[in-house]
Amino acid sequence: MLGLMQDWPLLVHKIIDHTALYHGDREVVTRSVEGPIERSNYRQIAARARNVSAALEARGIGLGDRVATLAWNTARHLEAWYGIAGIGAIYHTLNPRQFPDQIAWIANHAEDRALFFDIGFADIVARIAPSLQRVEFYVALTDRAHLPDVKIPNLVAYEDFIAGGSGDFSWRQFDEHTACGLCYTSGTTGNPKGVLYSHRSNTLLAMMACRADALGISARDAILPVVPMFHANAWGIAFAAPMAGAKLVMPGAKLDGASLCELFGGEKVTMTAAVPTVWQGVLNHLQETGKTLPHLQRVLIGGAACPRSMIETFEKKYGIEVIHGWGMTEMSPLGTLNTPTAKTAELPYEQRLDSKAGQGRPPFGVEMKIVDGNGRELPRDGVAVGRLKVRGPAVAKSYFRGEGSGAFDGEGWFDTADMGTLDADGMMAITDRAKDVIKSGGEWISSIEIENLAVGHPAVAEAAVIAVRHPKWGERPLLVAILKPGRTATKKDILDHLSGKIAKWWMPDEVVFVDDIPHSATGKIQKTALRERFADYRPPDAERTG
Ligand code: AMP
Repeated sequence: MLGLMQDWPLLVHKIIDHTALYHGDREVVTRSVEGPIERSNYRQIAARARNVSAALEARGIGLGDRVATLAWNTARHLEAWYGIAGIGAIYHTLNPRQFPDQIAWIANHAEDRALFFDIGFADIVARIAPSLQRVEFYVALTDRAHLPDVKIPNLVAYEDFIAGGSGDFSWRQFDEHTACGLCYTSGTTGNPKGVLYSHRSNTLLAMMACRADALGISARDAILPVVPMFHANAWGIAFAAPMAGAKLVMPGAKLDGASLCELFGGEKVTMTAAVPTVWQGVLNHLQETGKTLPHLQRVLIGGAACPRSMIETFEKKYGIEVIHGWGMTEMSPLGTLNTPTAKTAELPYEQRLDSKAGQGRPPFGVEMKIVDGNGRELPRDGVAVGRLKVRGPAVAKSYFRGEGSGAFDGEGWFDTADMGTLDADGMMAITDRAKDVIKSGGEWISSIEIENLAVGHPAVAEAAVIAVRHPKWGERPLLVAILKPGRTATKKDILDHLSGKIAKWWMPDEVVFVDDIPHSATGKIQKTALRERFADYRPPDAERTG
């Protein structure tokens, strides 16, 4: 017997409708790419999103069409997302930090029919436009006065594009499983792969994100997503903040410590989210200026492992709670969130900090297990390290066009290619990306754990641990570090700092100080590039033991 409750499809434009009705005055503030701070609210965002829908339909865009965006976090970008989704078309976020050729490859692979872009990216668009086979028109996210003077065919200013609308377009109705958004992963092997979110997965994701033990978003919050909308579905914030009626503060193109701190203070931001490298910039700025952030209550840190020392600085020095999170583009992206349980909240502070450095627990809606090399499930004992597999309603079941099928098994599990431990309470800790693991004498060494300890040294700004070949042990860890400006440290200082905190055989054979460590377009350390740089490196005792 079926239940007798209503079919109420989970469509993302219902989120913007809800918030326009019940939180219509709640502000959406943008540091515009043109310069000034601009103020809008959810009522206006919803009406202008309807105008985007109307304008797209007038150009023949409809159900299933991909519409690309190449833009920072702004109110206009948000309107574009909802306007594209509201007619059953698919917002496709392009990452401007990638090389123009890669961007073009991805836009062609997705067969994007239109491209919305920030004026700051006009040169990139002009360069790739001749090779974008399917794009029929371009919308510069600005007004006519700021339209860039570049050669882009069929170009229109966003304000002109939506000018004909009267804010009363009726969203199209369709099944909640309809595709809504598309985001390509950086593609660790082979070409980038498209992750295709549905209206249902995005709506469930927003509900998951709002929970008290996730991001804990409420109508009293003011949220500044530093994480760009082009990085893994904006970590769900573009849906979760309107769903809760939280104020949104969009930082535009300026993501440096000073610019962010100005917005944190000026807009009384209570919650924010970004990768660890961004927080390094913010903490440096606070340190240099002696400023504090009295309104900021919570910081979500993910995308790469958050060092324990960073959590400690935020919490002890600035009284700001850190929520360490782990996820992936393929998971919409929320996977785990580290918020206290009744058990961990009781722990002495140092142990609580240790626990917070882990990646956290899966919320309802994420199933998780670790497996060995033969796919056998490993114990949830906090010790066994295995390959992490996940499933849930906001986890990909396939990549766009069926590529990369090897990552999905017959039981619906997605192989994350991350290695980690799980404990009996569901606490997960990442030890490494599978392709980055260091196997020394047949045993695994966690590069992430050593990196996190190394950046706890007061002179170290950033650290990466990579495997280098060794004739006896197979591989040995090499620590590559950047020192903070004006600070000095020797190999011995760093190794002394690690001593006693890790097993002796985990101790890096060498510490190399460098001026830069390469990062990917989503802020991750590019270990492949580092391994190439140090390919000819031989550990000091290689000759002796070889
Ligand atoms: P992306 O799809 O670009 O968000 O990248 C996802 C990958 O980033 C994951 O598979 C992890 O390897 C890494 N990652 C994300 N968050 C964390 C974290 N908190 N700790 C360690 N690695 C992380």
